[in-house]
Amino acid sequence: MIKIPIVDLNAQHQQIQNELKKAIDYVIKKGDFISGDIINKFEENFAHFCDVKYAVGCSSGTSALHLALLGCGIKAGDEVITTPHTFIATAEAISQIGAIPVFVDINAQTFNIDPNKIEQAITKKTKAIIPVHLYGQCADMWPIKKIARKYNLKIIEDAAQAHGASYNNQKAGSLGDVACFSFYPGKNLGAFGDAGIVVTNNKTLATKIRVLANHGRKTKYEHSTLGYNYRLDTIQAAILNVKLKHLFKWNKARKRIAEFYNKELAPILELSLPMVQKNNEHVYHLYVIKTKQRNKLQKYLSQKGIATGIHYPVPLHLQKAYGHLGYKKGDFPETEKIAKQILSLPMHPYLNKQQQSFISKNINRFFKD
Ligand SMILES: *Cc1c(COP(=O)(O)O)cnc(C)c1O
Repeated sequence: MIKIPIVDLNAQHQQIQNELKKAIDYVIKKGDFISGDIINKFEENFAHFCDVKYAVGCSSGTSALHLALLGCGIKAGDEVITTPHTFIATAEAISQIGAIPVFVDINAQTFNIDPNKIEQAITKKTKAIIPVHLYGQCADMWPIKKIARKYNLKIIEDAAQAHGASYNNQKAGSLGDVACFSFYPGKNLGAFGDAGIVVTNNKTLATKIRVLANHGRKTKYEHSTLGYNYRLDTIQAAILNVKLKHLFKWNKARKRIAEFYNKELAPILELSLPMVQKNNEHVYHLYVIKTKQRNKLQKYLSQKGIATGIHYPVPLHLQKAYGHLGYKKGDFPETEKIAKQILSLPMHPYLNKQQQSFISKNINRFFKD
């Protein structure tokens, strides 16, 4: 019955079907499925896209985060600051090391970590901060960097939703010590399965991460350390190389759709629309509105055939999986408040004008009734 999905990968792939088939055929013919030139080329291209020197492809955004933390020397018992309003993978990677995620509330306008609340969460055990560039907008990095310098903390950007975003003309991925991207199919740049990448300007760190991602290999049968099988598949790199060429255009299309939503929904007083911080380039992985009537609106739109999402309905500090951290309801009021109000509207580069109008009209109609 759903007529308008939140994302439509089919629409995107139809546009570039021939390019994709050619790239996949080439990998099949070459028979290099685990490493090789295609991966090197993609890493080079993506590093260039982020304005950084080095990139190491890996198996997912989650493994990228795990590798980045390991690369920064984070160990069991260390504390790493992040927000409770993110996909669980951000915190999961911290926990995988035996380190402890320490949550800091968000700014309810930008949905990103509130720099004003970071300092009070720092202890002697704090080693790093993971700002998440949520929904496609960079976190407020200057104050975060100032704090990191003061307390000698590493900054690991979780840029899984922010391919191509920028902050004061600096690209997401170039704003901290190291950054992690996901190529989960629905992300702004998506593979045909799981994939991710770590980017950095630090050569030593890049080398360490590359070794860790490939069984701690120095050469084929020389293992300098214990590592992981976290490699990027060649076939995914081939697909990503094709798609990367279109990413700039796709992000622009998302921005145009966001502008249309902004214009059409502005008159609705009961709605709060995405706020873009000054000098931020938002790439609208998601277009998220807030309203006290969220549940009713979601149901209404669903009845009209419009799919919507909630990213994310249960804050991480209230997840059962994080019960052992000892947080309780009320600890992060901004996050808890907006979790009940947020709604993600359909957003992808091929959402056409007719669909955009249909969605906006129905939202207007809901609030008029
Ligand atoms: C998607 C996502 C991840 C995890 O990436 P995977 O490729 O799915 O492992 C991490 N953090 C955020 C914010 C994400 O949106």
